[in-house]
Amino acid sequence: MTSSGSSYDYDLLVLGAGSGGVRASRMAAAAGARVAVVEVDRLGGTCVNVGCVPKKLFVYASEVGREMHDARRLGWTATGLEFDWPTLRDNKTAEIERLNGVYRRLLEDASVEILRGRGSLVDRHTVRIEGAEVSREVSAAKILIAVGGWPNLPSEPGVEHAITSNEMFYLPELPRHAVVAGGGYIAVEFAGILHGLGVDTTLVYRRDLFLRGFDRDVREALRDEMRRQGIRLVFGEIIEEIRETPGGECRLEARLSGGDRLATDLVLYAIGRTPNTRGLGLENAGVELGENGAICVDEYGRTSVDNIFAIGDVTDRVNLTPVALHEAMCLVRTLFHDDPIPFDHELVASAVFSHPPIGAVGLTEEEARKVCGDDSVEIYRSHFKPLKHTLTENEGRSLMKLVVDKASRRVVGAHMLGADAGEIMQGLAIAMKMGATKEDFDRTIGIHPTSAEEFVTMRTPVGG
Ligand code: NDP
Repeated sequence: MTSSGSSYDYDLLVLGAGSGGVRASRMAAAAGARVAVVEVDRLGGTCVNVGCVPKKLFVYASEVGREMHDARRLGWTATGLEFDWPTLRDNKTAEIERLNGVYRRLLEDASVEILRGRGSLVDRHTVRIEGAEVSREVSAAKILIAVGGWPNLPSEPGVEHAITSNEMFYLPELPRHAVVAGGGYIAVEFAGILHGLGVDTTLVYRRDLFLRGFDRDVREALRDEMRRQGIRLVFGEIIEEIRETPGGECRLEARLSGGDRLATDLVLYAIGRTPNTRGLGLENAGVELGENGAICVDEYGRTSVDNIFAIGDVTDRVNLTPVALHEAMCLVRTLFHDDPIPFDHELVASAVFSHPPIGAVGLTEEEARKVCGDDSVEIYRSHFKPLKHTLTENEGRSLMKLVVDKASRRVVGAHMLGADAGEIMQGLAIAMKMGATKEDFDRTIGIHPTSAEEFVTMRTPVGG
């Protein structure tokens, strides 16, 4: 437990009330610390306001149209249903505002003081807070920086006509045509959302295949699926210029590096995010930054200044909400319970909410061949038509893949493209975290008929 007898205003001052900052604030306050959190924007950060939560609500909405299409062969006559963008957008916004209130109450109930305004460091113990009306300085024994990241925009001409994921959640109207630039989580997810809502969608990515870092089989299977659904994929190119086309059929034109000109109503850039460290006054305290402006921390979240800590996307390591929550909990154990716990970034499962979604945990086949040696890896793969689609006209296929280290027999990678991939992958992540071997998977009895049972019924290695 903390001692509250210090001469500082607070034992812990947290900059940023996103997922990581709120969790750390509440847990530190529960441990007896005097805590305040500084936030200039809405409570809940990227995940709640312009990230995971509203995105997933949009994904659900985009799936309804596809379900209606499949429903016909299942005996339903789907008529009279039309999509209305303002209804989805405004219902989503109302839900997010409700969550903002939940976050406020959680903080208040934990006796965390919420300081409204933009915080910046004056020195290693002092933070200036510039509010709408007043500005003031507060002091703290320890400072935690959890201010997240911000979407990047390139410098190409006409970029002022483009938007980022931040604006996607509040579009005044749904475009008829959209171009999405990028090949990461956000680009792939929004290409699927827009297409599912009936928007003619093109994704432009600078390399040969999107989702770098995911298993190649899964990336190729998603590429084929998206093309089959009618999403235009342009690989090996970038947008070189965006210009307005007054009087044209579409509002904008995007000129690609290959020479094509795409008429479009919307250009969405999803080309990565940059840690939000500019203007934080970190130089006043001597906090070291990495090349891309990320705060450098050790495995306990300590920066180069021993009373200043950082967690979450501002450190640009594994930029996922559950990782920030985990880091917050480890940090509070370390600082306020005298129980130092290093962050554990091993075997973090994640999902891409594309259509269909991807779920993945552990090493890709390519990574495993590098780590374990080319001949020391066994691959199990199943590419199949899900039972549901044996009755619909949907030609979509699912892919499941296990990567096994031959020597230890441990399953070192699990990958899936198909319905509910994220839900399925969470259980596999537990097994893998416990060190499950291929034989443990084999002696687990499947649940029939499911797609998930494929993970315990694949017996013959590829090439075996
Ligand atoms: P990512 O880092 O996932 O991907 C960025 C993409 O943009 C890459 O394909 C990259 O290409 C490309 N890119 C980078 N710079 C340029 C450029 N100048 N011109 C053209 N393309 C460029 O970023 P996102 O913005 O998609 O997402 C940010 C983070 O948010 C992710 O890292 C993820 O951790 C998190 N997130 C997680 C989600 C989830 O868990 N489902 C959902 C959404 C976001 P290249 O591969 O060539 O580098």
